[in-house]
Amino acid sequence: MDAPAPAEIHAAYGPAELARLRALGLATNKEIRRFKVAVNTACPLRCDYCFIDKDSGETISWEHVAGLVRFLLSSPGHVKKLLLYGGEPFLNFALVREIALYARAEALKAGKDLDLSICTSAALPLRTEWLEFLRDQRFFLSVSMDGDAATHDAHRHDKGGVGSHARMIPNLPPIFESIGRRRAMAIQCVHPGNVEKMLDNFKTLAGYGFENIEIEVIHGFGWKDKKHLFRPMMQRVLDWVWEEARAGRRRFVVCSLVPLMLKDGVVREDWCPFHSSMETYPDGSFSFYPFAFVDWDGRRRSKVGDASGGIPPRFQDCSFDLGSDKCRNCTTDYYKNPSVNEGNDPYRWRTEMARAFMDKVAMVARTDPTMKEYLKEALIRCRIS
Ligand code: SF4
Repeated sequence: MDAPAPAEIHAAYGPAELARLRALGLATNKEIRRFKVAVNTACPLRCDYCFIDKDSGETISWEHVAGLVRFLLSSPGHVKKLLLYGGEPFLNFALVREIALYARAEALKAGKDLDLSICTSAALPLRTEWLEFLRDQRFFLSVSMDGDAATHDAHRHDKGGVGSHARMIPNLPPIFESIGRRRAMAIQCVHPGNVEKMLDNFKTLAGYGFENIEIEVIHGFGWKDKKHLFRPMMQRVLDWVWEEARAGRRRFVVCSLVPLMLKDGVVREDWCPFHSSMETYPDGSFSFYPFAFVDWDGRRRSKVGDASGGIPPRFQDCSFDLGSDKCRNCTTDYYKNPSVNEGNDPYRWRTEMARAFMDKVAMVARTDPTMKEYLKEALIRCRIS
């Protein structure tokens, strides 16, 4: 595939801004659709599968925010998504507010269609004014919640080992009221210790009121002995979602919506890490997902440039071509850490199965009015992915 000509690539910003970004190494010929930003490291929780150093006291600098927002918005592609993570971003809500307003203003200048999203553990009371701001800015909101209290509290707990499930529950009705069920989602973490309960936990989250649930495969846990269970359990989830849809109830596995959103971009999403896997730590370092979640100490090894120094030469001029060895081996060469590779197969199966599910929906929707309604609703929701 030919790389877009430089003039087309950066049409969004004027020549002076483009020159400035180029000089900083913050202009790329590759489409960046999603950019995940860990705004801070602080968090009230100490979940077993989070490797971020919650006591390091890091918060992203404004220089880095400005750099990464412009990096994202100057890349090719019209629809962009900025995802705010932590730590717990609600602990720095003033910064979240500033980032959101700045990114919205920059997107307007750049002529890009920007989605904003925030992820929370919901383990602290979410204030009404925070949620109202997010509603007004049309945020998507994700809650990391694994399912029932026993499943959730087994790995999501505070410093004293007390699970966070009971603290989260009061936050859910205000989230649904302000953000709305279409724009809220649960992130259900699945790992070898709870894979057998995948369907039960999915149903529990639906019972709490979530209509959008992402199955997140946890990397860095030993999957070897439980891997064989993943596909049958994922199929049970999809079968249940199908039956619910047939009964007119709205349940969506979020990654199944990706092809509806991306259409031609699915191949890039799968192969080019710039497309959907870019993330930034609070120190401004860029890396590819899921490094921060499995190897916080390996930040230097996983670094792909930063928000003040730009991206390294290795990635500056490559352009996506699935026929090239460079692109085909790109992430294989990058993910050297075996912990990061743990979970790769379940992650891939999850994505393939969820997409196949949506293909089936689309096929049946041609003749079935109920599934046609489900598909219509999925098309409205696909920007959440
Ligand atoms: S080498 Fe990697 S980063 Fe560069 S275009 Fe190919 S897949 Fe994308």
